[in-house]
Amino acid sequence: MNGAAASADAAYRTPALCSRLPKVGTTIFSVMSALAQQHDAVNLGQGFPDFDCDPRLLDAVNHAMRSGHNQYPPMPGVPALREAIADKMASLYGHRYDPGSEITVTAGATQAILTIMLAVVQPGDEVILLDPCFDSYAPNIALAGGMAVHVPLTPGSFRPDFDLIAQALSPRTRLIVVNTPHNPSATVWTGAEMQRLAELLRPTDALVVGDEVYEHMVYDGVRHESVARWPELAARSFVVSSFGKTYHVTGWKVGYVAAPAALTAEFRKVHQFNVFTVNTPVQHGLAIYMRDPQPHLELAAFYQRKRDLFADGLRATRLLPLPSAGTYFQCADYSGISDETEADFCVRMTREIGVAAIPMSAFYAGDVQQRLIRFCFAKQNSTLERALERLHKL
Ligand code: GLN
Repeated sequence: MNGAAASADAAYRTPALCSRLPKVGTTIFSVMSALAQQHDAVNLGQGFPDFDCDPRLLDAVNHAMRSGHNQYPPMPGVPALREAIADKMASLYGHRYDPGSEITVTAGATQAILTIMLAVVQPGDEVILLDPCFDSYAPNIALAGGMAVHVPLTPGSFRPDFDLIAQALSPRTRLIVVNTPHNPSATVWTGAEMQRLAELLRPTDALVVGDEVYEHMVYDGVRHESVARWPELAARSFVVSSFGKTYHVTGWKVGYVAAPAALTAEFRKVHQFNVFTVNTPVQHGLAIYMRDPQPHLELAAFYQRKRDLFADGLRATRLLPLPSAGTYFQCADYSGISDETEADFCVRMTREIGVAAIPMSAFYAGDVQQRLIRFCFAKQNSTLERALERLHKL
């Protein structure tokens, strides 16, 4: 190489970075979906339906596009959609959020939660996470300069341990994230647990993120305990939900945040410089579609049938299904089959059996191995039956 070429190479050098997220790789959901595709496996890993949404919703969005709703909507979201969200929350949870100052439409729940963290967590603030938990929370806290304080849910039952939560609370606690119905354990918080949380937080300045994206998937006649139902909690909470989960359109990436005006004002300061706003025709379409409450009211029965089909099928395999009280997830214990790590078991099951799942360990900060994996049953019955047939070979 001559001198001129060498110096040109040096000039084109990409400067080294100091990673903001040094321990973060690609999310397990993308990794397992890619592996499932590579091995032509039935993908029960990443949580998304393999069936389409209601054609009436497609028509409503199409109509919005063709009627010229294609420019920026107002920064917090299309007013008709915010009103529909306020009406729905009032009818379900008895708390009316003001659509003007308390509801913001987001590009999905993941964006909503990052934006909340950036809006309220200051460097050095602590955020309590209940492990296992969704894998975006801890990196979100790191990006905001906060410190994640990991508190385990009770092993086995995955119920919140309020003694441990009380010990974790400190004057620096800014937030606690409460996810119910819970991904990945498929447990659902009780009213007594919400009450207990309210009492515990009463003397503190801690805020709450209620990640309630599976709010309509609660089974066996149990009701979803939104933080919005509990006035004392609602006063300090951001409630996050997702149209993707409720209407089978995870790829549309539209959700929302409801929070008291003072919290919403700070949220919007960040939101406007993050995504600014969310695509217009989908918002108009959703606003029209939401006038009919049947789709969300029928969702629990629809998914309960799938849960029952899948859990009954699992009982005939060597996997042991855990209870699934909510969400579209079903966890299973494979300790009767193998002592591999959860990640190894999931990779082998994808390659050799042809069914992909998510290792429970992916939802913990440390290396916690319980011989548990998570399946998503938001699939056509024929897909679930095909997976079950394969799982018999385990
Ligand atoms: N919430 C979904 C799950 O837990 C996936 C979301 C994602 O892939 N980021 O599987």
